[in-house]
Amino acid sequence: MYVWGILKRSHKCEDMASKIKKLNVLVVGGGGREHALTWAISKSRNCGELYCAPGNGGIADVAICINIAAEDLRGLVEFALNNAIDLVVVGPEGPLVAGLVDRLEEKGIKAFGPGAKAAMLEGSKGLTKDLCRKYNIPTADYARFDKCDAAKEYVRIKGAPVVIKADGLAAGKGVILCRNENEAYAAIDHIMTELAFGEAGAEIVIEDFLSGEEISFFALVDGEHAIPLVAAQDHKAAFDGDEGPNTGGMGAYSPAPVVDESMVATIMETIIAPTIKGMKAEKMPYKGVLFAGLMLTDDGPQLIEYNCRFGDPECQTLIMRLESDMLDVLLAATDGKLKKVSLKWRDETALTVVMATQGYPDKYQKGSEIRCIPAAEGLDGVMVFHASTRRNGDAIIANGGRVLGVTALAPSAAEAQKLAYQAVSKIDWPEGFNRTDIGWRAINLAKS
Ligand code: AMP
Repeated sequence: MYVWGILKRSHKCEDMASKIKKLNVLVVGGGGREHALTWAISKSRNCGELYCAPGNGGIADVAICINIAAEDLRGLVEFALNNAIDLVVVGPEGPLVAGLVDRLEEKGIKAFGPGAKAAMLEGSKGLTKDLCRKYNIPTADYARFDKCDAAKEYVRIKGAPVVIKADGLAAGKGVILCRNENEAYAAIDHIMTELAFGEAGAEIVIEDFLSGEEISFFALVDGEHAIPLVAAQDHKAAFDGDEGPNTGGMGAYSPAPVVDESMVATIMETIIAPTIKGMKAEKMPYKGVLFAGLMLTDDGPQLIEYNCRFGDPECQTLIMRLESDMLDVLLAATDGKLKKVSLKWRDETALTVVMATQGYPDKYQKGSEIRCIPAAEGLDGVMVFHASTRRNGDAIIANGGRVLGVTALAPSAAEAQKLAYQAVSKIDWPEGFNRTDIGWRAINLAKS
């Protein structure tokens, strides 16, 4: 319909429009991040058929959902081949680390995201720490262990506080902050002997405890060049006041007021650029999005960890602020053409409030109905991204822990917070809960 509009305006536009080859795109994943990605891609002037595997109840509004799991690499490659897919955008870390991008590229299909080797920046915390040491990237001092006794001996010498991390992928749970040595010994046993995170804990990293303000920083990378996206901050704790158990993220906002232009330059220069250079030198060039968890310490920004994909729910806030064409940007990163790209962002604050099923992150029941989402989306500047829903006829059914990401765009953090909670109040879902203070840090900072 959009192209029809262009065609009707003038012959010149008609010529231009006919030259644009529309791309068929497959997005892999089914969470809030993938809803935000498909939503942004669907608005691109270059988007042809848009598919999402497996998608969810909200993604079905903007893409054709296909019933293939994100971990089913063979099924995904086959689908891409059979449906003339021009670009595959891989959302979650699992298929990236398992090598989906490599398999697609072997078949001549373009894919956004790192290959398996480069995805080990997220797949092995030890590998990332070694890279930091070799290329002088600021990060907490550390040691790696595959034997319990040696790990405990290190703690005895080093003292506490320390942070103990399972080396491999542990669904965001393999990190234990230890205030004293006894907690550290217990954490080592928990990860290495009890294998609480499975094989991911066969090896561990022990690192110094860093203090400061934590931020999520994103850069797009094409193997050689990196361009910064914007920074965001999230709230990991389940309850108000950043209390309660750790979750995948109960809300986020962007911009992060602690990150100004000079901080972006420092992060790019001291952390992102040497990482890209190092990865290339190590023969595992990185492309895709590089998500750096950073601590802004008194000694400057230090790397806490890398992720090889967009964060969720940070992605929802970034995408609300992006003015540039998302598909063009992803394609430029995939084609090694980022050097020519400059991105346009909205200055406003985007703020996401996650609505989760009661009981999350522990036990919870799937299957309750959520009503009145359209009333929330009817508010100007609001978008409701679905993280875990399915459709039953016209009804939207909760299908997981974190279920919706109610996202608002407004001139300030305070106004974005107000608008987001106004939207939340319109949603009728007695079985859900949400924090009521997302963005408090940014709002307090603006007041001070
Ligand atoms: P990670 O999965 O490595 O990002 O760790 C999860 C969370 O643990 C981070 O978001 C930080 O809040 C915290 N964390 C990890 N490493 C450190 C560290 N060295 N010092 C202080 N906090 C840390």
